[in-house]
Amino acid sequence: MLLLGKVVADLSEPNQVELVLEGGRGGKGNSHFATSTRQAPRFSQDGEKGEEKELILELKLLADVGLLGFPNVGKSTFLSMVTDAKPKIANYHFTTIIPNLGVVKTKNGQDFVIADIPGIIEGASEGVGLGIQFLRHVERTRLLLHVIDVSGEEGRDPVEDFNTINAELKKYSEKLSTRKQIIVANKVDVMQDESLYKELEDLAKKENLEIFKISAATGEGVEKLINHVAEVLKTLPKEDLIEYDERIVYTLEDKKDEWEARVENGEFIVEGKAVERLMGRINIEDNESMYYLQKCLRNMGIEEKLKELGIQEGDSVKIADWELEWYD
Ligand code: GDP
Ligand code: MG
Repeated sequence: MLLLGKVVADLSEPNQVELVLEGGRGGKGNSHFATSTRQAPRFSQDGEKGEEKELILELKLLADVGLLGFPNVGKSTFLSMVTDAKPKIANYHFTTIIPNLGVVKTKNGQDFVIADIPGIIEGASEGVGLGIQFLRHVERTRLLLHVIDVSGEEGRDPVEDFNTINAELKKYSEKLSTRKQIIVANKVDVMQDESLYKELEDLAKKENLEIFKISAATGEGVEKLINHVAEVLKTLPKEDLIEYDERIVYTLEDKKDEWEARVENGEFIVEGKAVERLMGRINIEDNESMYYLQKCLRNMGIEEKLKELGIQEGDSVKIADWELEWYD
């Protein structure tokens, strides 16, 4: 939830409730005021004015694992192999339009959510192409699987691909670029020779990254990778990945004591949350309501304070936004 560009609440837990507007307390209908001496009260309280705020609700997918990589490297194929998700799989360089989510269940009962992030292409972090819209969805993943086509079939250079995607990632978010990555060398079933894979393996060593050889099409190496991912996830904390600019917490606590009385140019002034709240509930045209006001002023110690300040019958007193004449 954003407020003037500020994050005010991060709704990432089931049933999470965040109060973002300090609403006025509701008024009370007149039955609330029925007492033994006032059986049919004419008196009602107005509700307080509530606050108004414009909030932007931003939807982000919550996946544990994000699939990263150029278009056509086999991300969707991989997702459909390991989950029940049915992403579009197509042999052209522009495939997934909506990020797909799938739940992976390992044989030993673990599960995690994996998201197929549509291919980010060069320039994505500047808003060119589709990438930027989708990068937001990887923000919260704890682990990235960087899928790379090592088959050489499409003339791709795995090392170059790896670097390009990571450069994009870094431009978009420094933080995201430091997220743990595992390199997934895909399409080994049609790998022409080992040389491209070897180069990538050397890079992985240099970067201190793990690398897994798989074929998303035949399933080779897939289970081993999935089991490993499940283990790795256990070691990665579900940290709060949202950076709060400002954490605003609203409560409905009673701020009874918050008022202040003073004299200014002969006028008595009572200010503060407590009286704003009180006046918000008073119906000035109703005698009984005014009587209630007097009672509250007495109970809150305001009457005593005004007397201390020297208030006399007929003096004008400003309470919150209301100008009233003082009676004893
Ligand atoms: P994405 O754009 O990264 O999601 O890639 P897709 O999953 O749509 O795959 C692009 C093309 O590569 C499709 O024709 C797939 O059938 C093919 N493909 C994906 N993985 C493999 C693989 O492991 N081996 C082979 N031979 N083809 C694959
Ligand atoms: Mg795809």
